[in-house]
Amino acid sequence: MNAELLRQYLEFYRDLGIQTLYRQNAPAGEPLADARGSDQSRDREGALSGTSLTPEVREVLPDMAPAGDTLIAIRNDIGDCKRCRLHEGRNKIVFGVGSERAPLVFVGEGPGADEDAQGIPFVARAGQLLTQMIEGTAKKEGIALTRADVYICNVVKCRPPGNRTPEPDEMEVCGQFLFRQLTTIRPKAICVLGGTAARALTAHKEGVTKLRGKWLQWRDIPVMVTYHPSYLLRPYNQDAKREAWEDLKKVLHFVYD
Ligand code: URA
Repeated sequence: MNAELLRQYLEFYRDLGIQTLYRQNAPAGEPLADARGSDQSRDREGALSGTSLTPEVREVLPDMAPAGDTLIAIRNDIGDCKRCRLHEGRNKIVFGVGSERAPLVFVGEGPGADEDAQGIPFVARAGQLLTQMIEGTAKKEGIALTRADVYICNVVKCRPPGNRTPEPDEMEVCGQFLFRQLTTIRPKAICVLGGTAARALTAHKEGVTKLRGKWLQWRDIPVMVTYHPSYLLRPYNQDAKREAWEDLKKVLHFVYD
């Protein structure tokens, strides 16, 4: 089997939610690939980075994103997705908005009711705050930037019922598409909104208050974690608002200076 075929098989098994594959004639119990990865490899390179393979497999495997991938191809591959239970209650798949060449990507957790109705991420109150944060901070810092200049998407593309946190298996299945989006766009930096997205992308287990404000990495792309705008909407979070503004300033100067 050549490397491209092996990659296609592994992608297919990940779609099915299969976590671990075993090699024939391998010493008993030795996994060929573990889609969840060891804590060590996760901490080093991130949960959705494709680093969960044993070194032996990684040597023969090309990137999990097909060569010449595009956002349109990824959206086509998602299709009328029924890979996880989230499809049951969704109206629209919320794929992402922005340019394939955006130097900055914002990653949220998952769509809410308005996003599910419109098929566009971050359009309701939290989304309006995100837009204000991006455009307001950029303006104050003398950077010419609107929301349309960045790319915005979520870890899961379908609304979790009642806006609950996405389950790990839902993030695993949908995460492969986020991984392909990020690989295709190859932004200069990623700004992760909230603890769930931070855990999906960096696999750090600490909460957002510990992770925010520091540069982390997804593969070789710098990642800044900050508070989710929904959290900032709560009236008693003035300190968090100030911190989120600091985080965003750091990201914008890093990307646009
Ligand atoms: N919250 C998110 O995480 N994503 C959205 O698209 C909207 C709200």
